[in-house]
Amino acid sequence: MVSTVLAKASESRRLERLVARSRPARAVAMRFVAGERLEDGLDAASALAERGRSTSLDFVGERVVTEEDAREAAAMYHRALDGIDARGLPAGISVKPTQLGLLAWPARCAELVDGIATRAGEVGAHVTLDMEDSGTTEATVQLVEACHRAGHHHVGCALQTYLRRTEADVVRLEGIGASLRLCKGAYAEPAHLAYQSRRETDASYRRCATRLLAHGTYPRFATHDDALITHVLDEAARLGRSADSFEFQMLYGVRAELQARLVDEGFRVCVYVPFGQRWYAYFMRRLAERPANVLFLARALRGQ
Ligand code: FAD
Repeated sequence: MVSTVLAKASESRRLERLVARSRPARAVAMRFVAGERLEDGLDAASALAERGRSTSLDFVGERVVTEEDAREAAAMYHRALDGIDARGLPAGISVKPTQLGLLAWPARCAELVDGIATRAGEVGAHVTLDMEDSGTTEATVQLVEACHRAGHHHVGCALQTYLRRTEADVVRLEGIGASLRLCKGAYAEPAHLAYQSRRETDASYRRCATRLLAHGTYPRFATHDDALITHVLDEAARLGRSADSFEFQMLYGVRAELQARLVDEGFRVCVYVPFGQRWYAYFMRRLAERPANVLFLARALRGQ
């Protein structure tokens, strides 16, 4: 219930203006966001690389309103790729298609994705298209297919196991060799499209993970859930999958000790590193995932 309200609140521009102005809210948000500037994201990626972790840089923002905003977001990704190249970082990027205008100008968005994918290919960086709410799923899957047709085989997307369609999408995209990120899903979705219980979402995660380990190109398991991580490790061992042929992905600021343990055990860990000024929606989804985070925020606001 609280999660659904917070997930919905992530879409409110009015609340965004209020929360972004609040100093305590900002302080709590910065547990999950590397900072507001590109340099902050690159510095965080450099520090994580020193501790054996790769990263995926996310310039926070979504659902742009003007074409100019979409072009600016794309330009930021070009600068991020330049920074990754200049610093020689083991890093890729995570891009929200609606930040490039997926819903408003799909053709323009496809051009911007193509430009980013071309630069990423030169730098040797992987591009993951984040998966947003269900209104964007089919278009995002099609963007990945278009990228592969254009020869950008280093472009994949996230797939959300709470969606009933996802097992079919795993098969569809694994068929073209796309490297996929598997996550549970962070938006509020209706029952006819998405499993509503944790039990069903986790069961779907297990089925998709096993399928990806059996057939997928370099799967990326985005979860902090011990039970699902154990499932991935058990299935990787059973299927004879080497430790360098898949990775775990976790969010910046979440379960750093678990990240370290997996790295120490010889597994690959990639940290999702958000940066930028439009951190509100990202932050609200992190609150929705874990009610304890709301308590941090409430305490910070009480001390205001
Ligand atoms: P949970 O059962 O939610 O969490 C397991 C444990 O992890 C919790 O008990 C807690 O200890 C810890 N934990 C989880 N979340 C938090 C948090 N926010 N703060 C503090 N501790 C936490 N979703 C999308 O819809 N689209 C995407 O493109 C997308 N990309 C992602 C990329 C990465 C790298 C990751 C890690 C997640 C991504 N997500 C995305 C979010 C994902 O869908 C889940 O909402 C989120 O990961 C929580 O699910 P979980 O698998 O960690 O399991």
